[in-house]
Parts: sequence; C-alpha cells; structure tokens
Amino acid sequence: MKQFLDSYTPQAIQGHYEGKHIITVEQFHRDDMDELFEAARKIRRGVRRGEQGIPNLCANKVLATVFFEASTRTDLSFQAAMSRIGGRVISASNGISFSSLYKGESIADTIRAVGCYADAVVLRHPNEGSSYQAAYYLDMLAEKLGRTTVVISGGDGIGEHPTQALLDLFTIIDAKEKVDGLNITLVGDLKFGRTVHSLAKLIGLYGASDTTISFVSPPSLKMPQKVLDFLQCHGVPYYETDDLFDVLADSDIIYWTRVQEERFEDKAEYEAICNKFIMTPSVLAKAKPDACLMHPLPRKHEMGTQEDQDIQDRDPRAYYFHQMENGMFVRMALLAKVLGVTSL
Ligand code: ASP
Repeated sequence: MKQFLDSYTPQAIQGHYEGKHIITVEQFHRDDMDELFEAARKIRRGVRRGEQGIPNLCANKVLATVFFEASTRTDLSFQAAMSRIGGRVISASNGISFSSLYKGESIADTIRAVGCYADAVVLRHPNEGSSYQAAYYLDMLAEKLGRTTVVISGGDGIGEHPTQALLDLFTIIDAKEKVDGLNITLVGDLKFGRTVHSLAKLIGLYGASDTTISFVSPPSLKMPQKVLDFLQCHGVPYYETDDLFDVLADSDIIYWTRVQEERFEDKAEYEAICNKFIMTPSVLAKAKPDACLMHPLPRKHEMGTQEDQDIQDRDPRAYYFHQMENGMFVRMALLAKVLGVTSL
C-alpha cells in the first residue's frame, strides 16, 4: 500500500471541494481551511438554533463507514454528521471483519464494492497508504460508472488523520481566535501518532506567523524527519525536547497524546517509555492560566488516574470535549462540501 503514497497525488482543494477525496492535509491551503471552518461555524449555529435546512443538506446521499481499526469518535462522529445533514449511513453488518475481507478479498475490491453503493466512504486502515490506494481504485470505478464516490481518510496507519487535524485547528481558532503568535506544544508519541503528523503539517499550511511548535517526546518517539522538513519548508520554527518543563510554562496549546501501544512490535520498548509523560493536575498547574489542553482521545494512563482525569476535566483549560463536538460540525461541513452542497 505504501507505494500508493508516492504514486497517487490527491487533488488540491483550491476552492473546490466537490468530488475530491480527502486523504492528506497537504490538499488544503489557508483559504480552503477558512472556507470549511466558516461553514462549520454556520452549521454549529444552525444546529444550536434548530434552523431548518441543515437537516436536509445531503438528503438522498449515502455515506459508508469502513473501519479496519478500532474507533469511537471518528466513526460515530462521521455517522452523526451524515445523519444530521440528512444523509444515510451504511456499514458492514457485524463489522468489517465479517465482510468479504474475511474471505480474502483485496481492499481494491472491497472499496469499489462500497463505492458502488455509497456517495462517500470513510476509511480507517492500519496500513499507511491505504486511503491513497482507495482513492486510486475509486477513480478507476468512477471511469467505469461515470459517477464519483469520494473517500475520506479516517486514519491512515501511522501516516495521517486529516479530519482530526482540521477539527483540532478549528478548536484552536475557537479558543484563541487566531493561529498566529502561539506556542503550540505536542507531547507524547510523535512517531506513531498520526494526529500530530497531520496537525503539525496543517499549522504549516495555514501559514501562521510568529507561531512555534514544540515537540516533546522520548528520543525514540520523535516526530518523523519528513514532518520536520515540511515545517521547515513552510517557515514554521520548531523545537524538539524530551523535557516537558522546558516549554510547558510558555505553551498556549498543550496537545497531549497516547503512546500508540498497538504500533509497537516490541512490547518491552513500549513498557520502557509508556510512563514518560503523564498529565496530572500538578503538571497542569504549571501551565498558563489560559492554556488549552487538547487530546485526540482515547486517553489512557497518560492523562493520569481516573481521579486526575475527573479533576482535569473540570478545569476550563481542558478542551477535548470541545474537540469532540467540533469534530462533528467540521465533518458535517466537509461531507456537505465534498458531496456538492454550495449553499454553505
Ligand atoms: N483517535 C486517534 C487516532 O485514531 C488518536 C489515538 O488513537 O490515540 O489516531
């Protein structure tokens, strides 16, 4: 699947969302993000006011969710998003492991089968490059059927998670009313964490001025060089450290992540670093009074004990519930746009 990463180039959005696959943040420029975020704000206002119209935006459209990896938020928020704009959602009965893949079918065929039934497919797969492969085969299907089914990545192995990054940036702008002039700190498993890969790149693509990104991780879980090179190309200063307290007190955004246990081949390696960065109320006490604590979730012990989490959740600096709710609004806007709604 990895070969598709090099051989398939998704189309840039460039002001036109309709019919485009969404598989990497590299498709977005600042104007595209602003347009999407404006639509998500409009939808959020409309949903809160119970406005007519939003529940019919995508009537007659069908979304398929195809998840080969565990998911709660991404799967359910896409399903909720599609339902709230009037579309329908299908997924394999009893989960994808009971689908034809179980009989040995290739992803190339499974995705095209789904493409025959749906207008959009959200795909999550453990192999990096799978969403590129899906896009490639859905393009082939489009030539045959004369209509397009778009794929939206819901997490591409250890590669990217573009819609998570969009909802993260939307939440940062919500909280800080800007992206410029911020100290953004990403903490934890920066090697295997796809959300941080996409978010760091998206910040670079947004063209924030005077914003610095600090990467805090154990040396073995550093941000991949290709993401660092991307930031350098986009003129975003970054700083790498394994000492959280180097940067915590100056951070406006603290984006905490889970160590991706399932990606480690050697469990001993995981055990050696899994307790390196634990957020607790006493750590949070050292952060700015107006900092935002974010997390893509799910969270485990890296956010402390249940008692720690209960305290942190009440702290006004905790933003992960905002992230979850915003995720649904951003996904409503994105689905509407790729499915051709122009009224947003
Ligand atoms: N839910 C996020 C993801 O799918 C983060 C995580 O699993 O830790 O990448």
